[in-house]
Formats: sequence, structure tokens, C-alpha cells
Amino acid sequence: MIYTHFIDGALTTGLNRRSWINYNPANNNPLGEVCQANDEDIEAAVNSSEKAFQIWKSKTGAERGRVLITAANILRSRLEQIALSETQDVGKPISESLAVDVSSAADALEYFGGMAAGIHGEFFDLKNAFGYTRREPLGICAGIGAWNYPIQIAAWKAAPALACGNSMIFKPSELTPATALELAKAFMEAGAPPGLFNVVQGDGRVGAMLVDHPGIAKISLTGSVSTGKKIFAGAVAQLKQVTLELGGKSPLIIFEDADIHNAVSAAMLANFYTQGEVCSNGTRVFVNRKIFDNFLRQLKDRTEKIRLGDPADPDTQMGAIISKAHMEKITRFIDSGKSSGATLLTGGFRPGKDFKGRDISSGNFLAPAIFADCDDSMEICREEIFGPVLSILSFDSEEEVIGRANNTPFGLSAGVFTNDLKRGHRVIHQLQAGTCWINNYNITPIELPFGGYKQSGQGRENSLAAIQHYTQLKSVYVELGNVESPY
Ligand code: NDP
Repeated sequence: MIYTHFIDGALTTGLNRRSWINYNPANNNPLGEVCQANDEDIEAAVNSSEKAFQIWKSKTGAERGRVLITAANILRSRLEQIALSETQDVGKPISESLAVDVSSAADALEYFGGMAAGIHGEFFDLKNAFGYTRREPLGICAGIGAWNYPIQIAAWKAAPALACGNSMIFKPSELTPATALELAKAFMEAGAPPGLFNVVQGDGRVGAMLVDHPGIAKISLTGSVSTGKKIFAGAVAQLKQVTLELGGKSPLIIFEDADIHNAVSAAMLANFYTQGEVCSNGTRVFVNRKIFDNFLRQLKDRTEKIRLGDPADPDTQMGAIISKAHMEKITRFIDSGKSSGATLLTGGFRPGKDFKGRDISSGNFLAPAIFADCDDSMEICREEIFGPVLSILSFDSEEEVIGRANNTPFGLSAGVFTNDLKRGHRVIHQLQAGTCWINNYNITPIELPFGGYKQSGQGRENSLAAIQHYTQLKSVYVELGNVESPY
């Protein structure tokens, strides 16, 4: 198997023969070779995207929308095949890839496909004149993706970009090259002009080439804060537009009047879904001291029942960590937690067998970890771990917990559990985070904007808000009288 590029409507290995092996995180068996794009490949992708842009921007919104909605239907018709590919690439349970990854990619295409015909400017009645605005596309947009939600990230970027009349060149993470190609095929089969959605494979250097290329108008990254800073600096040098969806260390606050069963469910979703490799995870779980012991008991009990194992088994609830290197990084954080005085209540070890007794020692499996006796200043409570590691902290007052929750350079997400309606809103309104939940966690419907405050990002994905980030506004003044001139 070779993971090729997809340029000008066709799979291609490109001009550069250099490649490397992509591994299945569940057993570290090779899945295939991945191509690495070079300058000529990028040039070919940009030329083809420019041609497609000229064709695509002259279509009506309804015509563009029809292509997006057809592509969504194609993805849904291949749900099982694409979900399996995602599971092999990422290591996440097939139950997740089926229910969330591919479906949310299709949701994005349907949502923005339906919206395409309605993208419009405004009319202004002026004295003896009128004005209007047009929302025009930017040109070629580059999408650069992380490895945790490959097809979802590709679709969340492509859907609004294409609905607005742009073309896109997408670079998946070097660790997950598979499913962006499925999206590219779906667009072609749905009637998109060749080059409308090109895929170039490769590592961060390929991403940097896209950022630097003068023919590319906008960069949208999903990735870490440190990559976001580099991309921002590169884009600023050419005054390109950017959308940055970055990392976090988000708080989940459980008040004493919360429904404890629901709150425990949310804390688990906020830390262990996709092996904890989710940007918006609520990894600092603040629990009111009055319910702390009860909450912790239930959390530990239910966490130890998580069915960890073969990601391709429909009964599995937690799969494998993306790579050996990332697993070692998470393990270092766990060691740091132990040495800083936190108590590892459960997990944090590499299990040899899965929940059905199968040998999983060759895969990157890590039992979900809970740390108690934590302190806000510990590394595990400050740094994004991006793995199944939950830190639980106690608090006494509302004012105290709001201050501690906000004491971070990140601001992607936040959650509050309470049955007091007024308190729920009051607290959420004071939390410095772009994406918040009351009495749930990590739910991301396409209708709601998604993005971060502070160092967690710039701009928003999903919802009507995304349209602003993929269009530029043109103002037109139309004179109905004479030109008044002092000359
Ligand atoms: P990275 O920042 O390492 O990589 C993200 C993408 O950027 C990859 O495709 C990577 O290439 C590319 N890249 C790396 N360096 C450069 C560069 N200098 N110029 C251009 N592109 C570059 O993130 P991960 O892939 O490790 O993903 C995990 C991170 O993503 C976490 O911090 C997580 O919080 C964040 N994330 C944010 C989300 C959000 O919506 N806010 C959602 C999901 C994840 P390659 O890796 O192939 O070398």
C-alpha cells in the first residue's frame, strides 16, 4: 500500500520518491508507505488548485452546495470502509470512528453545502446612492491537520472553504495519511473540478512550504500551540489569513449539587474518549470538596471497567495511542505526576492483555490514569498531555474555582456541572474559554462555533462564524446622482 498525494483529480506518488512507513498503533505492523511532497509537488498542487478556483468561484452557491452534499452522501455510503481505515490509522475504537469521525465529516459537508446558496452580502440605502457588500472567496486555502481526527479535521476545513468558493490544498498529519484521500475521491466523484481539493502528504516541512507559498491565501491549522506560533509567524510575514485550532488544558468544574452519575460520565468522556487524544479535553477536573470522595469512588470504579483493547473490535471502548513516541511522552508525564507527589489512583501502566484476554503487548496501549492529591502547580495540571490522564482537584468556593480554572495560558474549552441554572451561566460567563458546556462535555455540533481563547487559537470553525474566515468582504458604492466636486 502506498499513501499517495491527490493532485488535479488523481492519486499520484509525485516527483519525490522519498517515503516512510505508516504503522498501525494497535500492533505496530506496517500499514504502508507514505510519500513526502517536494517543491515540484507543491507547485503542481498550487497550479491545479488555481485552475480549479477559477472554475469553482464562477459557479452559483447552489451548484457548489450540490457537490458538497453529494460528497457527504458518498462518505456515508462508505461509512464502514472509511471508519475501519481511520481506526487502523489512528488506533481509536471502531465504535467511535463509525459514530463520530466519518459522520461528523459528512455533517460538515451537508451543513455548509446547504448554506452555500445563502452566502450573501448586505444592502445599504444611502442618500442618492446605495451600497452593497459581497462575500468573495479568498483563493487557495491550505488546511494542515492533526492526527487525532483526520477525516473530521479535513472536512471541517474543506466544507466551509469550498462552500465559500475557495479551493483547498490539505496536508494530513504524517501519522494519518489515509482518509483525507477518501475525502478527495468523494469530492471528485461528486462533480468537483480537478484540483478543487488536493492532498499533499508529508511532515511539517510540507506544511511549512504551504505556509510560505505566495499563491496560497489562507492557512487553517489544527495542531499544537507551538506549531500554531510558527505558522502564525510565517503567515504574518505575508499577511495571510489564519485560523488556528490549538491545544488546551481545560477545566471541568463539578459543583456539589450536580447529578454525580452524569458528571462522572462527562469526566470520563472529557479524558478517555479517543485515548484522551482530544484537544478540548477537560483534563483538570475540579470537584467540590463536599462530594469529592463519592465522586472519586465512582470515577475510579467506572474507569477501571473501560474495555481497553483491539480497536477493530466493536465492543472496545478504548484503543491504542497514536505512536510509540507519543506513548513514551505520556508515560513521562505520568512519572512526573508521581514524582511531584500526586497519587496515581489507577491506570498509567501498559496492559499485556485486552478485555477479551488477547495479547496486546505489541501495541501502544495505556490503561486510563487518574491522579488525585494534585496541586495546580504540578506539571500534569499545567501542560497538555494529550493522552488518557485525568487530574482531579478539590475546591470550596465558586470564586476560588473560577480563578484557578482561568489560571492557564490556554483557553480552548471549559465545562460546568450544576443543577443551579443561574450558577451554571454565571460561572460559564466568567471562564476564559471559547467552547463551553453546561452539564455535558465535548459535544461539538456543526451548528455551534468551535475554537479557543488565549493561546488555544484564532478564528472559529463550524457554524456561520466559519464563513467569515473563508471570505473577504467587498464594499461597492453606487452613485445615483451627480458627482459633487470642489474642482
Ligand atoms: P502538531 O502541531 O505537531 O502538528 C499539526 C500539523 O502541523 C501536522 O500536520 C504537522 O505535520 C504540521 N506541522 C508541524 N510543524 C509545522 C510547521 N513548522 N509548519 C507547518 N506545518 C507544520 O500537532 P499534532 O499532530 O501532534 O496534534 C496534536 C495537537 O493538536 C495537540 O496539541 C492538540 O491539542 C491539537 N489539536 C487541536 C484541535 C482543535 O481543534 N483545537 C483538535 C485536535 C488537535 P507532521 O505532524 O506531519 O510533521
